[in-house]
Amino acid sequence: MRPIPFGKPMLGDAERRAASEVLAGSTLTHGPKVKEFEAAFADFTGAPHAVATSTCMASLHLAYLFLEVGPGDEVLVPAQTHVAMAHAVEACGARPVFVDAEPRTGNIDLDLAEELVTERTRAISVVHYLGLPVDMERVLELARRHDLFVVEDCAIALGARIDDRHVGLHGDIGCFSFYPVKHITTGEGGMVVSTREDVAERVSKQRAFGIDKSVLADRRHTGAYEIDALGLNYRLGEVSAAIGVEQMKRLPEFLERRERNFDLLSESLGQLPDVTVLDSGHQGSRRSSHYCLVALLAPTLAERREWVIDRLKEEGVGTSVYYPRSLPDTRYYRETYGYEPGSCAVATRISSDSIAFPVGPHVEDGEIDEMAQTFESVLEEVAARA
Ligand SMILES: *Cc1c(COP(=O)(O)O)cnc(C)c1O
Repeated sequence: MRPIPFGKPMLGDAERRAASEVLAGSTLTHGPKVKEFEAAFADFTGAPHAVATSTCMASLHLAYLFLEVGPGDEVLVPAQTHVAMAHAVEACGARPVFVDAEPRTGNIDLDLAEELVTERTRAISVVHYLGLPVDMERVLELARRHDLFVVEDCAIALGARIDDRHVGLHGDIGCFSFYPVKHITTGEGGMVVSTREDVAERVSKQRAFGIDKSVLADRRHTGAYEIDALGLNYRLGEVSAAIGVEQMKRLPEFLERRERNFDLLSESLGQLPDVTVLDSGHQGSRRSSHYCLVALLAPTLAERREWVIDRLKEEGVGTSVYYPRSLPDTRYYRETYGYEPGSCAVATRISSDSIAFPVGPHVEDGEIDEMAQTFESVLEEVAARA
């Protein structure tokens, strides 16, 4: 069996050619490719505004900068997500308040979120975990009642929709990642989408030093330049954007493959004893983007997880853990805010007892079966050793 990595960037001649064409010219930044990438992204998602950034972390930071959260403010953050979201809140001086996950899907538990709202809460942030959209109707209802800003982390949810409306366009702002193992890649890269013009305008400005564009447009004479906001340099370069343009053309095909792989793998692994597959496929009007498949191991089996992961690797099956540590269990957040280990118990259990399997477009038809069979025989080995 050919080794199957957990994630693999799908780059071909089109991407290489597009990157070379940019390199053959002299416009490496502030050029047409970023605009073309943004337009393609807006077209696919239906976003009225799409602004390319350097990473998803940068996009999230720009989201909380827009909101101007700072000391004394609280932001609800899922415990079961990438640390980027909590760090982005923290970088603004505000406090991330962690909300545990629901056990069936790993998405944020909205009953708990409601209980954690205080008069200091300014925003609710959600992650469409594994590509399954969070119930945004409930999030928006909660946000309306408490006057909260809504941030959607869509880093692993490109292609996910609720009633045909793409994720990232339900709340106030949506943030995407083009890190190599995500649905599409530009090496490093990110995007912000929003239905709000004020959000898009401010994000565009703050991603580029806070420079006032109306002055730039009128830069007939050198020195016409104004800075009217705090800003950072979170721009995407032209080479990355050129790769992104090509990746967007292939995205529909990538998503089809992911769905097929997910369905096949889910059917096989769903039949194994002592394994529960998290519900991250389509659920009614909530359409998943099938980022990966997470298998939750029964407690006795979970004690041997590292061994299982190592054996799978030896047999050529690359896996991962999404995410390896519940955020309140990380040393930084424990020490900063005094969280007790396991304070978000569901997130802790998913982090410590699950294995994420690949379903990306690099996994070919027959390989899903091989992967399932390999997993099954490794589990038999564990049982035999017990
Ligand atoms: C990968 C990931 C990020 C970080 O993305 P970068 O582009 O590397 O900053 C943020 N949030 C989630 C949910 C992710 O999976």
